[in-house]
Amino acid sequence: MTTIPKRSRVAIIGGGPAGSLLAFLLHLEGIDSVILELRSRAHVLGRVRAGVIEHGSAEILKQAGLGHRLEAEGFVHDGVQVTFAGDMLRIDFKGLTGRHVVVYGQTELQKDLYEGIDAAGIPLIDEVEGIRVDHVESASPSVSFTHHGETRTIECDFVAGCDGVHGVSRDLIPTGMRRSYERTYPFCWVGLLSETPPVSDELIYASHDRGFALCSMRNEHRSRYYVQGPADTTVAEWPDERFWSELTARLPAGTARSLVTGPSIEKIVTPVRSWVGEPMRHGRLFLAGDAAHIVPPTGAKGLNLAVSDVVYLSRALGDFYSTGSTSGLDAYSGTALARVWKAVRFSWWMTTMLHTFPGSGDDFERRLQIAELEYLFESESARRVMAENYVGLPL
Ligand SMILES: Cc1cc2nc3c(=O)[nH]c(=O)nc-3n(C[C@H](O)[C@H](O)[C@H](O)COP(=O)(O)OP(=O)(O)OC[C@H]3O[C@@H](n4cnc5c(N)ncnc54)[C@H](O)[C@@H]3O)c2cc1C
Repeated sequence: MTTIPKRSRVAIIGGGPAGSLLAFLLHLEGIDSVILELRSRAHVLGRVRAGVIEHGSAEILKQAGLGHRLEAEGFVHDGVQVTFAGDMLRIDFKGLTGRHVVVYGQTELQKDLYEGIDAAGIPLIDEVEGIRVDHVESASPSVSFTHHGETRTIECDFVAGCDGVHGVSRDLIPTGMRRSYERTYPFCWVGLLSETPPVSDELIYASHDRGFALCSMRNEHRSRYYVQGPADTTVAEWPDERFWSELTARLPAGTARSLVTGPSIEKIVTPVRSWVGEPMRHGRLFLAGDAAHIVPPTGAKGLNLAVSDVVYLSRALGDFYSTGSTSGLDAYSGTALARVWKAVRFSWWMTTMLHTFPGSGDDFERRLQIAELEYLFESESARRVMAENYVGLPL
């Protein structure tokens, strides 16, 4: 059983990708931390979520010594396909940018992170309840919580709020000092996971009058497909047959013929929305990942932004402990948000270009959408812009 320290330089709330990677990067800088996670280890390791790792995120993981399985088992993708009006266009990442993405499930990445944490001896306290954070405006914050019925307190120098969209950290910034920006799109994604070979070696993003569809994968035997559905839909409304028939209808005929269908092993409905909270810092509290921002899944940026946030934060904390300088910490919120907003923009662009907007009756918007897609198909410059953003902007 992990011993709960009474003091740690950094108390990290949330043991998802942001919290675990931060703890590991701090360990490499010689900074001790403790991770406090609400859920059990099995629950965190079982969550099926993101699957596309940007070039830069993959490099960070490799440099940190966490990339062995990602290199051996991840799938390097040098491009994606976009389909529209029966035509298929390849966005050639390698040719346009010299970079690629890696398809590697978040569940696998989380496993690698937890293995790294365990090997480094970083305390990961799971199943904590009732987290309370005090004194973040002073130089000596503390975090209290209940663990297996006992109340505990950890004194620290800094608190990292990495507790995702439903966490408590973001509300620690006083209302009058924070601002949030939100866009909820009028549709959701219905996702299906199946033990079937992927329909294509590369992801397919399909724009169709019936709605958007995405063909993705986890490995050669496991596919992940999504179709755009109504905002208020439920999983119960999507029996496998309905899902497969809707997906087939949205793909070009040749691709649809190659689609291998099978029983779903997981099905989800996920909202499509953007939310950004500013600033990402209050006193000695620093937010990172989904605790600070959410993006629509269209651009595959959520997990990658969690990585870039914690890279900036670990560098700033490393600088503070090695030189005493607070300049990196003072710049953290602005630096992270500058990158976040570019990912929000890209995710908005992808979402707006590829989905149908129900009930708008706005032919002007539809004409713009068609013009945007035609431009992408015709212009190498447009494709380069998409490729550059998809593989990830510099960290
Ligand atoms: C269904 C779904 C599909 C997605 N698909 C994609 C995709 O295709 N591509 C992509 O890039 N991104 C995708 N994302 C987003 C991506 O998974 C997230 O951006 C990523 O998990 C962010 O990591 P995080 O560590 O910031 O947050 P999380 O992964 O949410 O981790 C936060 C952790 O904090 C814990 N926690 C919460 N509250 C507390 C508390 N009070 N005390 C202690 N711990 C707490 C949680 O249990 C959790 O383990 C998807 C997300 C979902 C939900």
